[in-house]
Amino acid sequence: MTSDGLHCPESWETRDLQSVLHGFTHLGTLQQSGPVVMSRGEGVYVEDSHGKRYLEGNSGLWNMVVGFDHPELVGAACEQYQKLPAYHAFFGRISEPAVALSEKLLEIAPVPMDKVFFTNSGSEANDTVVKMLWMINHGLGKPHRRKILSRKNAYHGVTGITASMTGKDYINAFGLPLDGFLFADCPHYWRYANEGESELEFSVRYARNLEAQIEAEGPDTIAGFFAEPVMGAGGVIPPSEGYFEAIQPVLKKYDIPLIADEVICGFGRTGRVWGCQTYNIVPDILVASKCITAGYFPMGAIMVSQSIAEKLNEAAEQYEEFPHGYTTAGHPVGCSIALKAIDIILNKGVFDNIIAVSPYFQERLASFLSHPHIGEARGIGLMGALELVVDKGCKTPFPPEQPVAEQIANVALENGLICRPIGQAIVVAPPFIITRCQIDELFDKLQITIDKVIGS
Ligand SMILES: *Cc1c(COP(=O)(O)O)cnc(C)c1O
Repeated sequence: MTSDGLHCPESWETRDLQSVLHGFTHLGTLQQSGPVVMSRGEGVYVEDSHGKRYLEGNSGLWNMVVGFDHPELVGAACEQYQKLPAYHAFFGRISEPAVALSEKLLEIAPVPMDKVFFTNSGSEANDTVVKMLWMINHGLGKPHRRKILSRKNAYHGVTGITASMTGKDYINAFGLPLDGFLFADCPHYWRYANEGESELEFSVRYARNLEAQIEAEGPDTIAGFFAEPVMGAGGVIPPSEGYFEAIQPVLKKYDIPLIADEVICGFGRTGRVWGCQTYNIVPDILVASKCITAGYFPMGAIMVSQSIAEKLNEAAEQYEEFPHGYTTAGHPVGCSIALKAIDIILNKGVFDNIIAVSPYFQERLASFLSHPHIGEARGIGLMGALELVVDKGCKTPFPPEQPVAEQIANVALENGLICRPIGQAIVVAPPFIITRCQIDELFDKLQITIDKVIGS
């Protein structure tokens, strides 16, 4: 595969190694196998600069959900580039597509929402929400109400603020989290349940823990609680049964806004348009990004409830504005692409395809449980993870010096499948347009790969 390219000084791989600083990249693997430089794409497949084809089992980074060659998305971009190729959203000025997209998002929101704010990414969107909450409380004369609650193993982004809400050890590399960023429990039943505890009991216990944590911190010091409906980059962790039903009354009791980070779940991933609908979540603020443009343009969007919008307005009056915004956010081309992407997903058969094929996807995923080293097969809709264990009974993970998930992902790549190691789990989240036949190809390749790396 790409290792041929490593020995040729003119190859894309060599040029990459000499010029690119890679984020979120295992340096051992990069050194050994080199980068994979993509050249083109077709449907659910991408092709590298040597012409090797891969089934994109992760939709890129969860987002490239309608394939790599959708003519209507390209058409929408071209059309808008010809009409008004750039504009911003400051000083009360904005482009037509940004207004139309705001209306569309409010129309399809899972609960009544009032206003939309655009960013360029999911991180920027979550970062913006925290600043909104801080400004609201400042305006209300409660400047001490600024602590942010998220959950262990959550992923909310990489800015200083959002990395502080990301419950992963690697944030320590930056001396994060910042003060006042707190982590509640991760509702992963298989991993954390007590002996003999039912899923519902587990959820109730976690809700009680949350209440105790809020009481200990002081309820009037907490500005908001962030949660992904399904934890994505944490390793596809659907909440335990009854979890959101149990925690929402606690948040309500203390008047703590709930922010649904729908960056991965939004637009169909869980089998409903929103993860909030899958799990009966009633958020005060909703954050969308990834699938909103099917990956064809950088974009994040925040929807706020009427109550949040009013409070933000009041706070803004004191300062004469909401002093926040991104130069390129609400870009007319991005908004035109998003309008088209949402139309394609919801009205042109893509969402119907998710409904049609996801039971089969989950069935094939679950069949891996018969493997002696797969401890848990979990997922919902078109996302899933296989947790690799040394011992199924004790759920013992493989030790760090035996990075089997990383090895499986590397061998899968040789076999023409892109999948992703997260901790000691393998994660798959294919494009929404995947066919039943391509689901077979995905899991057949994964089966062969796992058997090769850790035996059958
Ligand atoms: C990817 C992701 C983000 C960050 O989005 P970026 O566009 O990478 O900044 C935030 N929240 C969740 C749940 C994500 O999956």
